[in-house]
Amino acid sequence: MGMFDGKKVVVLGVANERSIAWGIAEALHREGAELAFNYLNEALERRVRPLAESIGCKTVLPCDVQHEEQIDAMFGELQKRWGSIDAVVHSLAYAEKEDLSKRFVETSRQGFQTALDISAYSLISVAKRALPLMAERGGSILTLSYLGAERVVPNYNVMGVAKAALESSVRYLAADLGQNNIRVNAISAGPIKTLAASGIPGLRDMLTAFAEKAPLRRNVTQEDVGNTSLYLLGPLGSGVTGEVVYVDCGFSIMGF
Ligand code: NAD
Repeated sequence: MGMFDGKKVVVLGVANERSIAWGIAEALHREGAELAFNYLNEALERRVRPLAESIGCKTVLPCDVQHEEQIDAMFGELQKRWGSIDAVVHSLAYAEKEDLSKRFVETSRQGFQTALDISAYSLISVAKRALPLMAERGGSILTLSYLGAERVVPNYNVMGVAKAALESSVRYLAADLGQNNIRVNAISAGPIKTLAASGIPGLRDMLTAFAEKAPLRRNVTQEDVGNTSLYLLGPLGSGVTGEVVYVDCGFSIMGF
């Protein structure tokens, strides 16, 4: 018997098999969850659909979170197909490439708005659509953050500001949605080589330094994040909400 038998989970943010969202999806699938995925555009649909089919999932829907009507359409379709949902994984972010390489002081208004809109506001927008589908049984929402929300990480720049807004949104959503028995948490993951992370200059050096300094002396894997997502999304985390849980091989505890 799996921990997620009979549970319906929406996973937003799979781009390919390296995506953190895919690591979470594999863990949920292993534990018996029924999954639905989104894709950002047609190019990514060609990646996401075969991955979804490889675990027997047919619910793959378009959703660019910059467009309210696409979020409405996705959750409308889920309501038709499933009636209710038990959990949502929000594993997506975006910042303009130039805002991750120029001096932080050069961040443009447009770049700031785009990063905050896609990477932070979208969690609120998605939670709003999930609320009526979770209303009867309650549910759990999980997002992905990074240490750059709290400390300065070179080149992370506006994405660090967006992650700070995201982590604060986790707390405000948790306080608001608790009355509906909906929990909201984040995993702050250590760096993992994914499509999004490859946009950050110096990633390779960061991964090397991280594995040297982290107490577990290695980098974080998608599987590590998937395992902790089971705790936060499922019955083992039933009393946990508004938290940011580090899955970082201990890196963030080190002072020197
Ligand atoms: P990824 O590139 O595999 O996933 C990012 C996803 O964001 C993609 O699927 C992309 O389609 C989606 N996305 C971007 N703009 C979107 C939009 N407008 N609408 C809908 N989807 C959109 O990279 P990842 O590293 O798996 O990133 C997943 C999450 O994990 C992000 O929030 C990222 O900031 C976070 N995170 C990553 C790391 C890391 O080192 N890789 C560490 C900590 C946190």
